[in-house]
Amino acid sequence: MATRAFPALLLLAALVGCGSARSETSVVPASETPAGVTKPAFPDRPAPGFTRLEGERTQGGWLRGIAPAGTVELRFDGRKLPLAPDGTFFAAFDRDATGPGVLVAQLADGRSVTESLSVSPREWRIEHVNVARRPGGATEAFMERRRPELARINAARSIDHDVAGWRQQFIWPLKGRISGRFGSQRIYKGEPASYHSGIDIATGTSGTPFVAPADGVVTLAAQTPFSLEGHLLIIDHGNGLNSAFLHCSKLAVREGDVVRQGQYIGNIGATGRTTGPHLHWGLKWRDARLDPLLFTGPMN
Ligand SMILES: [Zn+2]
Repeated sequence: MATRAFPALLLLAALVGCGSARSETSVVPASETPAGVTKPAFPDRPAPGFTRLEGERTQGGWLRGIAPAGTVELRFDGRKLPLAPDGTFFAAFDRDATGPGVLVAQLADGRSVTESLSVSPREWRIEHVNVARRPGGATEAFMERRRPELARINAARSIDHDVAGWRQQFIWPLKGRISGRFGSQRIYKGEPASYHSGIDIATGTSGTPFVAPADGVVTLAAQTPFSLEGHLLIIDHGNGLNSAFLHCSKLAVREGDVVRQGQYIGNIGATGRTTGPHLHWGLKWRDARLDPLLFTGPMN
């Protein structure tokens, strides 16, 4: 292998953020300069790094930051991440993510900058129940109703509008008692049920209004209640991030509506499969299920 004029591997180890969240940046010359990419004019100059990295680097958490100057392509765990014109990007960590999350910025000069982010594990509320799980197996009649609902949910979640709710500090859709936490799970005689995919907020009554936690576009507004979710509302916050609100008694917006943070969008209720009135708020980024509490902070 021909030796290049590049300096020996330049490693920059940096601690970014606080607490136990660790990250490590390494800058390496591209082993092979891709065609059409100019070689660095000043190869011994340190490449720019990621800046303004913020978020919650834990399971169900998120990350926002600015890619190094000159980034032409950014990848997170191998998948391309969109870059806003100012270089800002967003990524998130699934409930079961083990990490590290790896950001790789390909620079115009052929070098790449890699940032490895540890993802701290969480202790989920696990409840062992000493009864067998109810015999499952959906009936064909149920599935006939369910299939088109799932198709609408999947279609809504694949829409990506050019909105910037993902840049905002999220607010609570309403204040109330947190009656169900994200990630909690029941295990029936050793058989785990699926974990709770959102946060439940109850006010003790049906009809309490709730607002949009961030800017977005309504991608699904189920005027006819879905079998499980009831009156379901899905809002796209842009960049692959979306909110789902379940069991509503009333929806105040329609598909295609642009909503602003804090805008009234519906009323909580008990439609669909639920034991009482509450708002189930689920957040997803691509395929990752996220904890809304890590976007809003405590309710106060
Ligand atoms: Zn729930």
